[in-house]
Amino acid sequence: MSNDTTESTETSSLLSFRDLGIIEPLLKALKDVGYETPSPIQAETIPYILAGKDVLGQAQTGTGKTAAFALPILSRIDLKQKDPQVLVLAPTRELAIQVAEAFQRYASHLKDFHVLPIYGGQDYSTQLRSLKRGAHVVVGTPGRVMDHMRKGTLSLANLKFLVLDEADEMLRMGFIDDVEWILEQTPDNRQIALFSATMPTVIRRMTEKYLNKPEHVTIKVTTASAENIRQRYWLVSGVHKLDALTRILEAETFDGMIIFVRTKTATIELAEKLEARGYSAAAINGDMSQNLRERAINHLKNGKLDILIATDVAARGLDVDRITHVLNYDIPYDTESYVHRIGRTGRAGRTGDAILFIAPRERKLLSNIERATKQKIEEMGLPSTEIINNKRIARFKQNITDTLAAEELSFFSQLIEQYEREHNVTALEVASALAKLVQGDDPLLMAPPKKVSERERDRDDRPPSRGRERDSRPEGRNSRDRNDRPNRGETSERRPPRRDFGASNIEMETFRIEVGNAHGVKAGNIVGAIANETGIEGAHIARIRIEDNYSTVELPAGMPKELLNELRKVRVAGQLLNISSVSGGSSKAEYKSESKSETKSEGKKFPKFDDDKPKGDKSKKRLSSTSRRAKEPTDG
Ligand code: AMP
Repeated sequence: MSNDTTESTETSSLLSFRDLGIIEPLLKALKDVGYETPSPIQAETIPYILAGKDVLGQAQTGTGKTAAFALPILSRIDLKQKDPQVLVLAPTRELAIQVAEAFQRYASHLKDFHVLPIYGGQDYSTQLRSLKRGAHVVVGTPGRVMDHMRKGTLSLANLKFLVLDEADEMLRMGFIDDVEWILEQTPDNRQIALFSATMPTVIRRMTEKYLNKPEHVTIKVTTASAENIRQRYWLVSGVHKLDALTRILEAETFDGMIIFVRTKTATIELAEKLEARGYSAAAINGDMSQNLRERAINHLKNGKLDILIATDVAARGLDVDRITHVLNYDIPYDTESYVHRIGRTGRAGRTGDAILFIAPRERKLLSNIERATKQKIEEMGLPSTEIINNKRIARFKQNITDTLAAEELSFFSQLIEQYEREHNVTALEVASALAKLVQGDDPLLMAPPKKVSERERDRDDRPPSRGRERDSRPEGRNSRDRNDRPNRGETSERRPPRRDFGASNIEMETFRIEVGNAHGVKAGNIVGAIANETGIEGAHIARIRIEDNYSTVELPAGMPKELLNELRKVRVAGQLLNISSVSGGSSKAEYKSESKSETKSEGKKFPKFDDDKPKGDKSKKRLSSTSRRAKEPTDG
């Protein structure tokens, strides 16, 4: 690969969290979660926030932006002040929960620290109780935060920090007026950090109005050509990443492979899991001595090892010709690390393969990477159980062929003949018994993997945190008080729970309909009308937001004109919907209808989703093949 960057600028900062000024209890927590070095956005942002400056950060999910604001804020928190001193506004309840969990994780060694997520859909009484108990940090969705402020149940009089997370998403979802209203109510001297993946004019203007001489932080886009590297991505969905990895290991023909993960802990865990599944794998990370790391790298060079699981730091400058594959198990923070990572293969004029595991919420990074590497990244389906099993059978037969060709077998031939005579059985029966003996308890063929929900998958793929489940899970997280609707005239948020992953990979488009709070409409009426008129499943009618005189709703992009025309004429709460498109169709559906009964429809289904079918994997064949059959890889 010809690379425009030099080794020294290829990877993230070499500064440590300690160098950046993060306080001791947080350093301890970072050690627990296994973060090795600050990501680029962290290295840039942390000093500014610690110095009390406002920050405008252009960064998307996956860059480590949450820790970029949470760590310096926690380093400066006053634990004695019980009323909220930090408010983080996030566009969705999922993000609010995630951010609150991150705060909890980093503050695990701060005594008596409290973070409280508040979002629409959760019942007020639980939130009220928690607010009364006091929270240092409140993480909330704009609508619900505003409701509490109006009711006088949340006071921001002593607020010191305000974070606007994913500001462009809040704008896209129509929350920007609420955000501005909240901003207006905060003390003048509060410090603000605003993060946004893109910088639309409205956000820029808001920044100029509310931020005080902000420091701009962006993620550098490194470009490099990678013509000799075939790049593919797998959209993490439906199966655990570990199961997906073992399938790929079985189906791909590779020589040496390097698998990138984010944390030191993950290098060890994954190496252990792969070893247990029969692969010769080892971990390298920044905690290991130089000697140990070199030994592992030498083993990879001379074929004693096939797979190294590494962090970015440990793999810096790694140069092993045998590496045919780079697999990004955890997404890199930015294009720079990606380019560096994939540059570990395709060395010395060879070709290479790069595979990226990417979660739907991290997809924005994909187009950046395509731009950076000036190459399209193909989507890959997971090799199906059938493909894997065919491979296993072929390998099993090949082993027999190889043994027949290479070994002196006359002694065993005599023994089998003798056995046939003595027991009056055929050679076929004896061979079958021997095959079973060789195979042992592990079945030769793989069972289909179990499906996992997104929440389950997220939980498994997130770094371990002590007491996360116990401490940071918001109270009443699953309780949804359906009577808990905002008053007429107030903005109402409908946050249906995430639906299972199988069908979430759909382009969505935002539409405006001319019926709102003033007409007494409820989200269920809208879902019901649209589902009945169009046959669109309730699961694909998402993010309904009811304003005073109109509402917005997300529907699958590319609806046929005739269908839209029909919908235009539909009346809900006495009003013509007069539906019109607002957005160009970019987001992904991640929600399902709050209540299936609201959305029953027997009509035509639009569109049809077929995510589960693995797409044909056109993996390259190589001369040398050391990929081996794993032990049964179906346990997550
Ligand atoms: P975010 O962009 O904040 O959503 O973070 C993405 C993921 O990166 C999360 O799973 C974090 O736990 C992880 N992460 C953030 N900072 C670091 C770091 N310095 N080292 C390793 N992992 C990190």
